[in-house]
Amino acid sequence: MQILDGKIVSQAVKDAIKIKTDALKSAGKKTPHLAAILIGSNGASETYVASKVKNCKEVGFKSSLIRLPETVDEATLVTAIEQLNADGDVDGILVQLPLPKQISEAKIISLIHPDKDVDGFHPMSIGKMVQGLPTFIPATPYGILLMLEHYKIDTKGKHAVVIGRSNIVGRPISILLSRNTYPGNCTVTVCHSHTHNLREICLQADIIVAALGIPGFLKADMVKENTVVIDVGITRVKDITKKSGFAIKGDVDFVNVAPKCSYITPVPGGVGLMTIAALLMNTYNACEQK
Ligand code: NAD
Repeated sequence: MQILDGKIVSQAVKDAIKIKTDALKSAGKKTPHLAAILIGSNGASETYVASKVKNCKEVGFKSSLIRLPETVDEATLVTAIEQLNADGDVDGILVQLPLPKQISEAKIISLIHPDKDVDGFHPMSIGKMVQGLPTFIPATPYGILLMLEHYKIDTKGKHAVVIGRSNIVGRPISILLSRNTYPGNCTVTVCHSHTHNLREICLQADIIVAALGIPGFLKADMVKENTVVIDVGITRVKDITKKSGFAIKGDVDFVNVAPKCSYITPVPGGVGLMTIAALLMNTYNACEQK
């Protein structure tokens, strides 16, 4: 069993971005600039955005953080996005999800200019991804592809089972793994909360992507020998032994599943770090394409 180490791979991706960014700057070109909008003060969202800002600095990007209160109305958020769309210095815009209930997520996502949609959630980006055209790929699925590529994991003709069908993880990774390219060319089964016989389906998998948000859901008796397991789950579970008061748990019962795997991602230290690296990659590309 080999660990797919998000620390090592994300650092390699970031090192490559830093070299390219330094080259842009020395050539007198503009510095990539990511603008993030954070609404309210949700603990997890605060942590994610702080980490994105810190990582921008590491690779030499500019970043801006726009904070709006939990009670913000939709019109104010729309104005903030329109300003960022019009700002020639901003290359990438991300609105940290989830949004408060008075705001339509679909409306906000579709307002971000597709050329600055570094999260890859805009219907135009998704449509292009489905057709295999060049576009921004949502950061978490993109991070998974970078991870598979780094470890040269064979995906051709493999049966990939994706647990979860959300627009940000399950659905896009299922489409990407079925594309006629590398990593891809998998036969993909998408499972969700209404799937019957999930265990039997997982036992047929060569690759399992667990993205449902239930800690420790994928058990050893659901996995055959030599499976590649990608754990996307990130759930904060109360843990009084930790300074923060919580531990981060993935969707896989790691201790018991890992010995059966050919490769497995840990949580933390796996897909989460790759998501940020992929977001930086999208932001760099958005800047370079200008
Ligand atoms: P979501 O709640 O939008 O979707 C969950 C999906 O799981 C749904 O499609 C649902 O049908 C399916 N599901 C729920 N219960 C199930 C069950 N018993 N059996 C089979 N399928 C079931 O979640 P999401 O936004 O896709 O996130 C999933 C997990 O991934 C969460 O823990 C989230 O925090 C994490 N996440 C991690 C990253 C990262 O960077 N690592 C990024 C995004 C999300």
